[in-house]
Amino acid sequence: MANKTDIAVRSRLLKLTRRLGVIIARYKRLDDPAYVEKTLQNVLNKQLKKYRAQLMPVVQEMFTGKHVDLITADALAEFVQSADKYLDSVKINKSTDKMLTNSIKKEFGTTAKSLVNGMIVNQSAKQRQFKALVISSETGAEEVVAGQVGDIWETLTDKYGQHDTVLFQSGKKIPLETYVDGKAITMTQEAANMVVMSESARNGISIVQFSSHRSGDSCSIHEGKFAFLTKAAKTQFIKDNPDITVAKSFHTVEQVRGDSTHMLKFNCRHRLIPAPIELFTPGQLDKVPESPGLVDSNREARLENEAIQKERAA
Ligand SMILES: [Zn+2]
Repeated sequence: MANKTDIAVRSRLLKLTRRLGVIIARYKRLDDPAYVEKTLQNVLNKQLKKYRAQLMPVVQEMFTGKHVDLITADALAEFVQSADKYLDSVKINKSTDKMLTNSIKKEFGTTAKSLVNGMIVNQSAKQRQFKALVISSETGAEEVVAGQVGDIWETLTDKYGQHDTVLFQSGKKIPLETYVDGKAITMTQEAANMVVMSESARNGISIVQFSSHRSGDSCSIHEGKFAFLTKAAKTQFIKDNPDITVAKSFHTVEQVRGDSTHMLKFNCRHRLIPAPIELFTPGQLDKVPESPGLVDSNREARLENEAIQKERAA
């Protein structure tokens, strides 16, 4: 979808990514064990504070800037277009638009905040542990050798990452710039899915379909399948439409979000499409597939998903 909005969003984010790179480079000394060793803890604390103060507005701007208005407006127009097939008049007014934009910005802003705060907290813990370990090895029986300090630093870097590392609860580490690059690509999808979730509910649609682009990853088992917006919507639907038995196999969007597939997680490009199957023609309804059982065997992926969700909810 390389439309006008996409181009505007990409160029805006590219500029911000450059600014991010400059700030990260400015604090590179925080990754130097010799520097951290010889610098007083309260000086290091002040530097981390300054580093956060410089990073935060840039990351906030990336997640909640004016480009998010464009993304939301596009997502709304897209929703109207796809829901128009089933509903006579989907009403989207200015206040809905405003409300949606605000709630999307709020959610993205929360993610941005916990992202930056998490990085700083980890680096602070790393520095404090490093200093404690170096001092204890110095006061020990043997004199501390240069190699030992390096080993201590390396072990802590394995645990906490570098000064620009985003750390997931699963232990997976990625550089902040890689994270925001991925976010830039999927921001449009994420906002669109939020719009579909909230506008479907508002317009009496209780089922959505996962888009299909023949992805090669674990998303594929959900491609083209259907899901309920909420558990309550599922209960109500089955009561109201006892003849549509296929609906009993559908999961909720939340269940899919919590499973171990990649669907709707970080870097996923799948979209939700409003799909009121009770309004489908009999021919269309015959083609609605049953949903497969939930996949939840991969512990690693599940932990990572949980971490991302926690980060979203924080
Ligand atoms: Zn996907």
